[in-house]
Amino acid sequence: MNVLDNLNRVRRQIAATALRAGRDPAQVKLVAVTKTVPVEIIREMLTLGLDSLGENRAQELLSKYKELPPGVEWHFIGRLQTNKVKKIIDKVSLIHSLDRWSLALEISRAACEKGLTARVLVQVNASGEKTKSGLHLQEVEEFVTEASRLPGLEICGLMTIAPWTENPEDVRPVFRQVRDLSLRLQHNLKARMDCLSMGMSGDYEVALEEGANVLRIGTAIFGRRV
Ligand SMILES: *Cc1c(COP(=O)(O)O)cnc(C)c1O
Repeated sequence: MNVLDNLNRVRRQIAATALRAGRDPAQVKLVAVTKTVPVEIIREMLTLGLDSLGENRAQELLSKYKELPPGVEWHFIGRLQTNKVKKIIDKVSLIHSLDRWSLALEISRAACEKGLTARVLVQVNASGEKTKSGLHLQEVEEFVTEASRLPGLEICGLMTIAPWTENPEDVRPVFRQVRDLSLRLQHNLKARMDCLSMGMSGDYEVALEEGANVLRIGTAIFGRRV
């Protein structure tokens, strides 16, 4: 397995899919999900122009942050414990996984303490799967309305994880619902909120066709995690 070939294949696929969908490939951000990937491999990838990395555990992000050169754009994509917020908040460019009020309060508090504005996405559990975190579709508007009043926090859009499926066509309606919700919020709340983080290795083409502009891709680049 050659990680460079994989990366090039994914990039080509993203560009082709974006063009087919009438979208500008330059407006699509690839976040390489590096959880469990050793820093030696990541370091090599950084020399090939990868610049945005996603991690789902605070501890792992912090240790990689220390070992890798500055200039990496870090994305936090996993369930975030409130006691980890202050450790990562000045290191990440975007938190994809705001999924509860207590976390919004803690992000706001920690951001104000450090004198910065935390950029966050609200995680939506569109399919209602019990094992997934995130707000249900009907809860999102009220949550965003309330959370956008908190200081130190900027809600930049929505994130979702589709259910696992053999056939990515099955989850097209999930992506479409989240995209529609995102457009509705932008209209109703007069908010920018134009970041839409959806699509992983198995379903990123469908997500892209349905409006995603941030893709979180691990396995298709780095191979299966051990
Ligand atoms: C692991 C992970 C990904 C990447 O999944 P792949 O199937 O390996 O591409 C994307 N998003 C989140 C939240 C993840 O935890």
